Amino acid sequence: MECLFSESLIEKWVENLAHPKNIVIATHINPDGDAIGSLVGLGLYLKKRGHHVTLACPTPYPDFLSFLDPHKKILVYVWQEEAVVEAVEQADLLIAVDVSSFSRMEMMGPLMMESNAFKILIDHHIDPVEQEFDLVLSSTKVSSTAELIYRILDCWGPRVNLSREQATALLTGIVTDTNQFSNSVFPSTFEVASVLKASEADMEKIVAKVYRDFSINRLQLMGYALQNIKILPEYKTGYIVLTQDVLEEYGYRIGDAEGFVNFPLTIGGILVSAFFLQREDHIKVSLRSRGGIAVNEIAKTFFNGGGHFNASAGKMENIPERIEERLVEALGTIIVSTETPEKE
Ligand code: 5GP
Ligand code: MN
Repeated sequence: MECLFSESLIEKWVENLAHPKNIVIATHINPDGDAIGSLVGLGLYLKKRGHHVTLACPTPYPDFLSFLDPHKKILVYVWQEEAVVEAVEQADLLIAVDVSSFSRMEMMGPLMMESNAFKILIDHHIDPVEQEFDLVLSSTKVSSTAELIYRILDCWGPRVNLSREQATALLTGIVTDTNQFSNSVFPSTFEVASVLKASEADMEKIVAKVYRDFSINRLQLMGYALQNIKILPEYKTGYIVLTQDVLEEYGYRIGDAEGFVNFPLTIGGILVSAFFLQREDHIKVSLRSRGGIAVNEIAKTFFNGGGHFNASAGKMENIPERIEERLVEALGTIIVSTETPEKE
């Protein structure tokens, strides 16, 4: 596979990992399959190469990802702040994965930023905030951070020898970020997936844990979401709102609404989908689109967020009554066309 980075960048990576180090690998708030798959896949790999590795995320990951962390080794900042602070203080290397900036780590960001450790970024979002890091290994020409990690290990050489656990973790990142190989798929995505499968990645387990094995509450919440899709025909948009009242009624747990944002896009003629999840102090906004509609622009401009061309997110003030008005205002600034998407 072609190396995505220049020789000098890879040399810098190799140099930094030539001797055993104290490493903290950290990812974004509300971690998803790519975030946790990347933490675990890279973490296990570096451990095997003799490093002392701590994995950390700002807030808990959903239960359905716990199969990647059977011994509960990943530190959750909001629960184990002291342990994370100690690990960062002792670290000589920090690796941020699946974020374009420390700001995506929210409450954990300042701790990472203020550390004197060497800082490496591994990510696949647009516009990485380069000045926050000493080494930036970022590319949008991959499906996911997990795919990118494999590509980096492959440049690093000699032969990448992955255990079943490492391969399963990285494949989870690819499967979830591509929504089961249906978007952001590059030729190399299948190549990497093939190597991971050859390394005994447990695809059956991934599918079972991520796409089945649901709680009855999640399934019934899904029923509510499907029953309550609202359509804005003039904007070819569908949206779903889940307020705190509804979440309470269905015994919501983190991860229960995973993938709901995709439902409206399965309706013929709908090009934009929005999903609003009320949290304690704000409303999380998730946006998806088909074709040439850049939802990351509206996420950035109207919802203080960002992300990818066809998949992005942000937040808005905690007033559910304002949702439709805010959405219509944002949609008014985009031109809905059916032209082919611009690749990131
Ligand atoms: P999701 O809707 O799945 O939470 O997020 C979709 C995409 O938007 C992901 O690629 C994620 O990294 C990005 N994203 C989510 N929240 C934020 C945010 O607050 N700021 C930025 N810049 N990107 C975000
Ligand atoms: Mn990702």
